[in-house]
Amino acid sequence: MIPYGRQSISEEDIAAVVAVLRSDLITQGPAIDAFELAVSKKVGVDHAVASNSATSSLHIACLALDVGPGDAVWTSPNSFVASSNAALYCGAQVDFVDIDPTTLCISVEALSAKLQSARQQSKQLPKVVIPVHFGGQSCDMARIRHLGAEYGFKIIEDASHAIGATYQNFSNSPCNSPVKANIEGEFSPVGNCEHADICVFSFHPVKIITTGEGGMGTTQCPELAERMREFRSHGITRKADRMTTPSHGPWYYQMTSLGFNYRMTDIAAALGLSQLSRLNEFVEKRRSVAQRYDEHFASNPKIRLQQVPSYTRSAKHLYVVRVPQAQHLEIFETLRSKGIGVNLHYIPIHLQPFYKSKGFQEGQFPQAELYYREAISLPIYPGLSDDDQSKIIGDLLEALR
Ligand SMILES: *Cc1c(COP(=O)(O)O)cnc(C)c1O
Repeated sequence: MIPYGRQSISEEDIAAVVAVLRSDLITQGPAIDAFELAVSKKVGVDHAVASNSATSSLHIACLALDVGPGDAVWTSPNSFVASSNAALYCGAQVDFVDIDPTTLCISVEALSAKLQSARQQSKQLPKVVIPVHFGGQSCDMARIRHLGAEYGFKIIEDASHAIGATYQNFSNSPCNSPVKANIEGEFSPVGNCEHADICVFSFHPVKIITTGEGGMGTTQCPELAERMREFRSHGITRKADRMTTPSHGPWYYQMTSLGFNYRMTDIAAALGLSQLSRLNEFVEKRRSVAQRYDEHFASNPKIRLQQVPSYTRSAKHLYVVRVPQAQHLEIFETLRSKGIGVNLHYIPIHLQPFYKSKGFQEGQFPQAELYYREAISLPIYPGLSDDDQSKIIGDLLEALR
């Protein structure tokens, strides 16, 4: 079976992991610091905090922003359940904002309308909004940040798909802050937090780079970074200036909040650091796979593709085709039967039984629901061979006829 996504592990990656295994510290050692520093440099941000998964990073990002019982968090229904579960872990209420049918990311128009109507009806406004960079392309962050300023919410980017992606700098944007990094002319890397409080990456094996399991939260705010570090490790601090009373001595630490053990190992961090050196190569390969698919599918009247707006360059984590609803199941099954590991991203979160038990219903987010009845994720990863891709293209076009 050709998988829809898979990691690319080199001999250098293996050597980096083995070197940590032969060293004194296999967790809480120097590889974590090195990986965090390398990611922060790569995306042009001051602070990066590694964890054992993006799910954990989303959770401690919410906690660092003081999300708790009585608060509301809004996100996209077209995402993995972790995007909204993070808020539920904090005891907050979750609500969703429908997607834009062309970008498949959160609709800024729908967000704006929902905020406006909540304000008019004196309903609760969100404390945090979590835009999801679906498929590896950035949401329109400058406009979302602008709404954040107007309605007083914080922003956590779920960039699980999008390390290596870029977003345009609008120098005349009212919510613009000084440009931190610039790798592609007017485009700057997702993760630099120019328009967000915290940005979260995933290093699961199907994502752009991997640590086996792992995640990272980036931020420009030192206080948020420190809080994420504390929540990552039991709510414990060893820094005298973070303690409530003077230190008792060199052994002393204080637990000042209820944290978790969400630490990444040095084994994983060494893999991540080695993978990061090939990030550009991975993204280029993904883009060329996507471009070849585009050439075959873009003008096909039965296929609709995710549109990439001019303000972003995608890291191409996913390649999704929308096919006619009436043929959806049949095409999916045919491709699977031919050894093509197609997948579906995503089942709308609000239609999961757990979310339905909280009162969500079919029909609430029609664009995400319609999309779900048409979507198929085709294989895309750096090691996908030309021959395999030819087979996928041929089999899909045949199944569509
Ligand atoms: C993969 C993913 C996550 C969770 O990442 P983990 O590292 O597996 O915890 C969260 N959000 C989105 C959009 C994802 O694709």
